[in-house]
Amino acid sequence: MKRAELLESLPRHGVYDLAVVGGGATGLGVALDAALRGFSVVLLESHDFAGGTSSRSTKLLHGGVRYLAQGNLALVREALAERATVLRVAPHLAQPLPFVMPSYRWWQTPFYGLGLKLYDLLAGGAGLGRTEFLNRQQAMEALPGVNPEGLRGGVKYWDGQFDDARLALALARSAEAAGARVLNYAEVTAVRQVTDAGTRAATLDVTDRRTGASFKLSARCVVNATGVWVDALRDRTQPAAAGEPSHMVSPSQGVHVVVDRDFMPGGHALLVPRTRDGRVLFAVPWLGKLVLGTTDTPRKDLPREPDAFAEELEFILAEAGQALSRPVRRADIRSLWVGLRPLVAAPASADGGTQALSREHTIVVDPNGLVTVTGGKWTTYRAMAEDVLERCFASELLPRRPSGSSASHRLLGAGMSGLPTTPLHAAPGVHLYGAEWAEVQKCQGLGNLLGMGLSEAMVRYAARTEFAQTVEDVLARRWRVLFLDAREAARMAPAVAAILGEELGNDPDLAGFLALCQRYLPSG
Ligand SMILES: Cc1cc2nc3c(=O)[nH]c(=O)nc-3n(C[C@H](O)[C@H](O)[C@H](O)COP(=O)(O)OP(=O)(O)OC[C@H]3O[C@@H](n4cnc5c(N)ncnc54)[C@H](O)[C@@H]3O)c2cc1C
Repeated sequence: MKRAELLESLPRHGVYDLAVVGGGATGLGVALDAALRGFSVVLLESHDFAGGTSSRSTKLLHGGVRYLAQGNLALVREALAERATVLRVAPHLAQPLPFVMPSYRWWQTPFYGLGLKLYDLLAGGAGLGRTEFLNRQQAMEALPGVNPEGLRGGVKYWDGQFDDARLALALARSAEAAGARVLNYAEVTAVRQVTDAGTRAATLDVTDRRTGASFKLSARCVVNATGVWVDALRDRTQPAAAGEPSHMVSPSQGVHVVVDRDFMPGGHALLVPRTRDGRVLFAVPWLGKLVLGTTDTPRKDLPREPDAFAEELEFILAEAGQALSRPVRRADIRSLWVGLRPLVAAPASADGGTQALSREHTIVVDPNGLVTVTGGKWTTYRAMAEDVLERCFASELLPRRPSGSSASHRLLGAGMSGLPTTPLHAAPGVHLYGAEWAEVQKCQGLGNLLGMGLSEAMVRYAARTEFAQTVEDVLARRWRVLFLDAREAARMAPAVAAILGEELGNDPDLAGFLALCQRYLPSG
C-alpha cells in the first residue's frame, strides 16, 4: 500500500488490538509476533525503521562471551538459541562467522579456550562449530594483519553476524505481509487511556513528520518499544502512574570505527578479550570493510545522532593499533557511528557505573495499561517479543492466543533466490535481497550503477517497496554506504536524491544527509 493511502486509512480502521510505538528491533519483533497470532496491529516509528539504536549495533548475533565471564548462563543460553533462530529465519541477512581470540600469554589459550568450550556446551544443538585451539601459525593464517609480536596462538570459536538495518526492514515488511500496518516518520506525541462503557482503550496522537499532519488512533493495548526513549513516552502518557513514573533507562554509548579490509583481510573476526581498561574489542569484517569497536560510556542526554567522545576514538585507535600489525590513524577512518544502549537501571544501582546495569530486557506494565519494554539485545528480539505478548495476556490487555510461528516464520527474502551464497563480510551486493532480488530486477535502471553496488533500480525499489523516504534512508539503512564510507555516501547522495525525487515527488532532504555525512567522520 502506498504511504498516502496508508495514512488515509489508518485512523479509519476502528480500534486496533495492539499499537506498537517504536520501529527498532524490539517494536518490529512485537508487531510481527502479534500479527502472526492474528491480532490487528499498527506500528508507528517516529523516524525510519532502525533509525535509532537498531542500525548502530556491532552486527553480531551472539550469546555474549562476556556475559559468560559474568556467570550469567541463562542469558547466554537463551541468546545462543535465538542466534540459531535468526540464522534460520533470515539466511540472506545473517550468517555464522568464525572469531579468533589471539593469545600473547601462556595461560590465555587454555583459560579462554575452556570458557569457550562451555559456550559450545551451552549452545548444544544450536552450536555453529567447535571451539578450536590454534598454534601461532594457524592464528596468523586466520587473522592476516594481527600483531605478530609475541603471538603464541589463539582460540577459534563461532558466533553469527548480520545486517541489522536490513533485518529490521525484513521484519517490517514481514509484519506488513502478515497483516500489520507499519508506518515510518510517524511520531506518537501522546497516549491517553479512555474507558468507554467499561471497555478500556487508548487513544494515540500521531504526527506524520513528512507532512506535519496529525491524526488519532485507538488501540486496546499499547506497547512502548521506543528504546532509550521509553521514559519520554511514559512521561507523556496520561493519566500518569501514582506519582511520577520512575525512569527505567540509563543509556550507555558505543562507538564503532570503520577502516579498509586490508588492515585485516580474511574471513575471521578478531576479539581482544581484555583491553587496557578491562573491556573487549572486536575487529569484524563486514560488508567489505573492517568494523572496530566498541566503547561503553554512560551518557545522560539522548541525542538522535550522538557524537563520539575524543577519548572513545583514541581508545579504539590505540587498542586496534595494538591488536593489528600496523597502526590505525584518524586518516584511515572511512566512517564512524555511535549507538545508545538502552540499559535498564536496576533500583539498587544508583552508582552510575554501567556494569551494574542490566543487559537483559525489562517489561513494565504501568497502572494506566502502558506496556513498556526495553533493554536486551538485537539477537534476542524474538524471545523479547514473546515475553511482551505473554505480559499483555497476563495483564488482560489482550485475549490470550497461542504462540504464533515466529521461531519458524521465514522473513521476506529468505526463500530460494537462485543467487550464489556470498559471505556477509564480502562487499555489499544483490545477495542481500535474497529471494526479493527477482522483484528488484523489474525496476528501471538496473545497469545504472551509483557506487558500492547500488543501482538506480535498487533506489527505485527502496522507494516503492522498502518504505524509503529520504536519501538517508537509502544510503544509511537500505544500503549501508554511510556506515561503510561516509565520503562515498556523500558522493553518491545527489544521484540518489534525484531518483527519489522522481519516485516520491517530495523533498528527500539531500542537504540534511550531506551534513550528516560529516558527522560520520572524525572532526578536525
Ligand atoms: C554500540 C552498540 C552495539 C551493539 N551491538 C550489538 C550486537 O552486536 N548484537 C546484539 O544482539 N545487540 C547489540 N546491541 C544492542 C541492540 O542494538 C539493541 O538492544 C537494540 O537495537 C535495541 O532496539 P530497540 O528497538 O529497543 O531500540 P531502537 O532501535 O532505538 O528503537 C526504538 C525506536 O523508537 C523510535 N521512537 C522513539 N520515540 C518515539 C515516538 N514517540 N513515536 C514513535 N517512535 C518513537 C525511535 O526512533 C527508534 O527507532 C548493541 C547496542 C549498541 C548501542
